[in-house]
Amino acid sequence: MQELVRKLLEELGEDPGREGLLNTPKRVEKALRFLTSGYEADIDAVLNNALFTVDYSEMVIVKDIDFYSLCEHHLLPFFGRCHVAYIPTNKVIGLSKIPRLVEVFSRRLQVQERLTSQIADTIQEKISPLGVAVVVEASHLCMSMRGVQKQNSLAVTSAMIGAFRDNARTRMEFLELIKVRGAGPSPRDWAAATEACAEEA
Ligand SMILES: [Zn+2]
Repeated sequence: MQELVRKLLEELGEDPGREGLLNTPKRVEKALRFLTSGYEADIDAVLNNALFTVDYSEMVIVKDIDFYSLCEHHLLPFFGRCHVAYIPTNKVIGLSKIPRLVEVFSRRLQVQERLTSQIADTIQEKISPLGVAVVVEASHLCMSMRGVQKQNSLAVTSAMIGAFRDNARTRMEFLELIKVRGAGPSPRDWAAATEACAEEA
């Protein structure tokens, strides 16, 4: 990878041999390996010993989980917050494992929509709750740095499964509890985001 980065620097019109860039290939490789380390993570190992049988059937919410990911279209960061909720049947996930799950899926090349649904689907698969809701609000540097989108505007995506999809009151209770800062999860926001991002594909 370091040789590729040296080549890339040359292609950009830089001199990979100048002092400030000498160790850049090594640093870039290290950074990229870390930022994509989610490919190697084993979900079952992450959740190991953290699935508990309980007699609890109220909504469990973990909100404001910070995440950083890389847009697969431009290899530029998108980052923001993730909110997760589920209604257990008889199993819960240790609370600290939810942010770990978000981390595993965000440390890959991603699109925001897939990141959102992968988190929801995994929780659904592992503990079969009555429902799962995931909302992700993110800023995309591939949009704001290129001036495609206004600074500070957020793309909001959501995945609603089971009770959160079928029951409007359950969904509203969740959205009220997380108080999404943007316009709220609307498919339109996501459409705008993909459009802007796919523009140069
Ligand atoms: Zn992008």
